[in-house]
Amino acid sequence: MSDPLLSVHGLSKRFGALQASNDITLDVRSGEIHALIGPNGAGKSTLIQQICGALRPDTGEVWFDGQNVTPLSVAERARMGLGRTFQISSLAMEDTVLQNAVLGALGGHGAPFRFFRPVLKDAALVARAEEALARVDMLKFADKRTADLSHGQRRQLEIAVALTLQPKLFVMDEPMAGLGASGTKDLTPILSALRHDAPILLVEHDMDAVFALADRISVLVYGKVIATGTVDEIRADAAVREAYLGE
Ligand code: ADP
Ligand code: MG
Repeated sequence: MSDPLLSVHGLSKRFGALQASNDITLDVRSGEIHALIGPNGAGKSTLIQQICGALRPDTGEVWFDGQNVTPLSVAERARMGLGRTFQISSLAMEDTVLQNAVLGALGGHGAPFRFFRPVLKDAALVARAEEALARVDMLKFADKRTADLSHGQRRQLEIAVALTLQPKLFVMDEPMAGLGASGTKDLTPILSALRHDAPILLVEHDMDAVFALADRISVLVYGKVIATGTVDEIRADAAVREAYLGE
């Protein structure tokens, strides 16, 4: 088997008396959706922030694409292809769907894109933006104002913006949050197809979505990974059922 694209070794993080991450080891392999589940406060977002570089671990290492990225910043990891979505909504609400996607693609070139309106004149950028929109079924809304989209459609657009940067890995913290049943249903096949563009580390509390999507699941409880396995293995794991699934 080839080396995993992302691997985390012995990652720990303490906030005062609280051990938010406790010696976490996990990896994400090519082509997979690796779901990270666990109760509220288990340390999922803390782990994601350490992987993306927003929080420095007390101990442990993060390896991405064959390199120890632990000392690198969020921006440096992003440039290497670590694509993060859903933490902050960075969409320009008055711009069209296509303009937002082109802005995303421009951002990947390091342009100071916040200081001018998108001109939509760069054919290569527009083509890349349209391709990304098509991947999330949003090309049909290319000329729509972003403010007029549904919540779920904005999530799809955020994914398209991330896609324009052609990431090697997606890290998503609760992409289904606030979408309701129909938004979750729309997003599920889109995420499923994305694993072939880049594998996904997916934090998600909607268990139906997790069971439908995940190739592997890691279960985090009180900052510790208590189990990693396939959907069937996790569903059958006695410790997981007791600690998390409440059975
Ligand atoms: P999850 O995403 O699994 O719900 P978090 O990673 O957000 O959990 O939080 C894990 C624990 O760490 C929680 O008890 C939370 O209150 C605490 N925590 C998170 N960030 C900070 C911080 N910056 N300072 C202090 N405590 C924090
Ligand atoms: Mg969280």
